[in-house]
Amino acid sequence: MEKRPSLFAGTHFDRNRFAKDIARFKPNEVHEGYQEHVYREFQSNVLNGSKKEKKRKRRDSVVVEGFNVFKSSKSLKTSNATANLEDDYVLHRKEVEKQIELDSLFRKKYGIRISGYSVPSPIRNFDELKSRFGCKSHLLHNFFELSFKEPTPIQMQAIPILLAGRECFACAPTGSGKTLAFLIPMLMKIKPRCKGVKGVIICPTRELAAQTTRECKKVAKGRKFHIKLMTKELSRCGDFAKIPCDILVSTPLRVDYAVRKGKLDLNRVEYLVLDESDKLFELGFVEQIDSIVKACSNPSIVRCLFSATLPDSVEELARTIMHDAIRVIVGRKNSASTLVKQKLLFAGSEKGKLLALRLSFAESLNPPILVFVQSKERAKELYKELAFDDIKADVIHADLTQEQREDAVDNFRAGKTWVLIATDVIARGMDFKGINCVINYDFPESAASYIHRIGRSGRAGRCGEAITLFTEEDKPFLRNIANVMKESGCEVPDWILSLPKLKRKKHRPMRNSVGAEPVDTEDH
Ligand code: ADP
Ligand code: MG
Repeated sequence: MEKRPSLFAGTHFDRNRFAKDIARFKPNEVHEGYQEHVYREFQSNVLNGSKKEKKRKRRDSVVVEGFNVFKSSKSLKTSNATANLEDDYVLHRKEVEKQIELDSLFRKKYGIRISGYSVPSPIRNFDELKSRFGCKSHLLHNFFELSFKEPTPIQMQAIPILLAGRECFACAPTGSGKTLAFLIPMLMKIKPRCKGVKGVIICPTRELAAQTTRECKKVAKGRKFHIKLMTKELSRCGDFAKIPCDILVSTPLRVDYAVRKGKLDLNRVEYLVLDESDKLFELGFVEQIDSIVKACSNPSIVRCLFSATLPDSVEELARTIMHDAIRVIVGRKNSASTLVKQKLLFAGSEKGKLLALRLSFAESLNPPILVFVQSKERAKELYKELAFDDIKADVIHADLTQEQREDAVDNFRAGKTWVLIATDVIARGMDFKGINCVINYDFPESAASYIHRIGRSGRAGRCGEAITLFTEEDKPFLRNIANVMKESGCEVPDWILSLPKLKRKKHRPMRNSVGAEPVDTEDH
């Protein structure tokens, strides 16, 4: 009687499972922390395979993702087969270890930190998108046309993660190319003109949604994608069963509204991106986000969160809905761009601030300049003050119509406006080319707000400057901002760093009118 090969004695051999595991094992798609698991699977699935598998004698070889597991059914009969497999395994294990080491050195070089199980290797250049993931040439051609020569660090790591169908939290400095990091996998994986919305990108402001739509269209040029910006009209009257749309970009409220009306079905969505995600998890948005996440009911959906600031609380909350998410951090978490030279300037009082602003414009006006204030009222007041000066200034805040807001952004982009006075409506994600200086006329409410405001400058590798004016009443909140400055390598006076720590996080002082005399609070 033929002796039963020991190789397939006992347990059921789940070939599909094995193929999946081996796919993770191939050298150019190496995953950290996987060897032990692979070895255990290897032992139980191959060395103790099933009887059924033995019967597949006619199958000459089973090549799984480049790893020639079974040379022939004959070889399985001999104990040599076991030895061969073990040799193959050892060889591959060595390759895996080498690749992991190389990846880790590469990540270190670019300040990329990862945590999570089975993290795909980063891409070294855009050509790897083609060699490893079969990216279409026209997409690479578009990168070339748009002068994207090399991927930025967040793109190097986040793109392969999303292409591998893994969910992720991505935290990288302002202006470091996060938009492209989520657009590229979507444009590679989503089939254009297939039924239903396949990709959804949620942004906290309409301006950012419009900008992201434009960027997406530029990158997708030449492929017949339907990329739609959710406008007020579309949200109220659009019927997405009749409107062709592959990728939808929107603020949370508009998507939520269309879904609730039953005019937008998100159950085929493959990619859901929450850009500026910490903002989206703030009060006022979180309910809408919750219902959007629920509406995207496709079980194989890939969700990802992108921001320059990602507090642990947001990550904890998001983890409750995400599967096996990988965390990628470029540089230091929650820190300002190191490309921005930051300064703190004591202005004494409200009147002092206006004087300081005028003085700085008189000394050197180096447009484009963004001036941030605390509220729409103060934006209007400062705009009125500067209207008498010989500066091409404009203003943007939430009280303007959509058209006025768009004009303000377009004129600033076109260089028609030198100084744009703004509230935090454009502090998040807006990409104005080459802003030379950001002035925090009013002290920011939080460290995150500071990081995003000054992050409008120092983008895509360019340098920038940020000046933050402060008065006596801002002094208790200085330390928070000073810490951010210090973390990003700026000099901060010791006296500020030795100020007592604040328990309260937000800074919302009642300010006098712009340029008003200081009020003696003891008399009132
Ligand atoms: P973030 O979202 O990180 O704040 P953006 O995605 O808005 O940054 O990108 C900032 C700028 O960098 C944009 O003008 C974008 O076109 C540019 N950019 C993105 N990726 C690259 C790249 N690989 N090479 C050169 N420029 C890039
Ligand atoms: Mg962005």
